Amino acid sequence: MEENKPVALITGASRGIGKAIAIKFAKEGYNLVVNYVSGNTDIESLRKEFLEFGAKTVFIKTDVTNLEDCEKMAKTAIDEFGKIDTLVNNAGITKDNLLMRMKEEEFDQVININLKGTFNVTKSVIPYMMKKREGRIVNISSVVGVSGNAGQSNYAASKAGIIGFTKSVARELASRNILSNAIAPGFIGTDMTAVLTDAVKENINNQIPLKRMGLAEEVAEAVYFLGGKNNTYITGQVLNVDGGMIM
Ligand code: NAP
Repeated sequence: MEENKPVALITGASRGIGKAIAIKFAKEGYNLVVNYVSGNTDIESLRKEFLEFGAKTVFIKTDVTNLEDCEKMAKTAIDEFGKIDTLVNNAGITKDNLLMRMKEEEFDQVININLKGTFNVTKSVIPYMMKKREGRIVNISSVVGVSGNAGQSNYAASKAGIIGFTKSVARELASRNILSNAIAPGFIGTDMTAVLTDAVKENINNQIPLKRMGLAEEVAEAVYFLGGKNNTYITGQVLNVDGGMIM
């Protein structure tokens, strides 16, 4: 068991924003617990990438919708590293459709992964943070959780739910020195947004004061600001990383 370095558990960290968050924490001297769900990830090359920054990594293939598996994931992290200093609930999906056409399973899947997944992993990790009387939780919401978006009623509901959850956890666990915050990214260039057509992307860029999509690394900087060891007095906040979309 390696106990000296701080430890960050990041869900959905095999690619996109989650991977950029993992790299940022690795650069800042953390060991990593990297969660993912599909078999498509080249674990060994990811392991090498994180090791270049000195991070030991435990990879855990777990669907965040399953509470029992999330409890096992937290236990595995503790068995390996002895503690979890930071939890980043990043795993998320979209299943966009206009409400008239949205299937019940499209609503349920998005709520289950994005919102219930955040509940499952947080519930599994906080007993260890409470025992240690210290912890930081960063939940990845979205600007559409604040503003709403046509065609994303399921996704926006899940991301708005995450904001309420984040603030409740902040109030509930402040006495144990556990800080809980959310990041609300705007449009960020990842697999999730790669499916958008060029016309849609151009239209979005025109609505962003900074006139471009964000980078996963730009979100990761904000996650570390709230979830890293230097944050000792910010809790219950939502920080937009969106090029000025929401002011
Ligand atoms: P992405 O590139 O599609 O990556 C999604 C990640 O989540 C992958 O690592 C995936 O694992 C994991 N995942 C999906 N379902 C899971 C499950 N059931 N259990 C565990 N892991 C699961 O997405 P992204 O753009 O980086 O988005 C990351 C987060 O930021 C999401 O919460 C998203 O809603 C939020 N966000 C993104 C944007 C944006 O513009 N991209 C904007 C606002 C908010 P596998 O690789 O194994 O499939």
